Amino acid sequence: MDTKRGTPRPGTVRIVYDPEAPSSEKQRWRPVTSLIRKVCAEQGIRLGRVHLHYHPDGVHTLPDSHPHGEAEYWGKTIFLCTADKDTALHEIAHVWTKSWHSPKWAEAYLYLCEQYMRHEEFIENIKKNASKYAVVRHALKRIYGIVIKDESKGTQRASAQQRAGGRVRS
Ligand SMILES: [Zn+2]
Ligand SMILES: [Zn+2]
Repeated sequence: MDTKRGTPRPGTVRIVYDPEAPSSEKQRWRPVTSLIRKVCAEQGIRLGRVHLHYHPDGVHTLPDSHPHGEAEYWGKTIFLCTADKDTALHEIAHVWTKSWHSPKWAEAYLYLCEQYMRHEEFIENIKKNASKYAVVRHALKRIYGIVIKDESKGTQRASAQQRAGGRVRS
């Protein structure tokens, strides 16, 4: 078991369900929680806790409306609002690389997507993310030789939010 706070062993991820959530939520999250445990065990990623948010109507209704996922990599903790693979791998890559949207993060994120998604799923996903994050676009070009054009300026907003402190936008 974990002997020191902050240094969880690979594969010993603690899943924390929202206390407001009905028991059926566990079932809904199962594919994602299984994936998270598998990824951390296989890649030796020291992820401590995963907080799963409950959004009854599928939207963010909280007053402090937050993005689909967040990472506090210094605390080895991630927060997920949506039960999809992409968000989980995105946030795990923050913890793994101890960084925000850095080139190192982008490489780790793409590696995880490549390893844990089906090919068609991987292609569809990276296209979407490349248009959202310049750092992913650059890593795709560098590592895979894939060129995807810039379709948004979303990364500038994300950087400003990171500088403002605290958690990072998904
Ligand atoms: Zn949430
Ligand atoms: Zn992120």
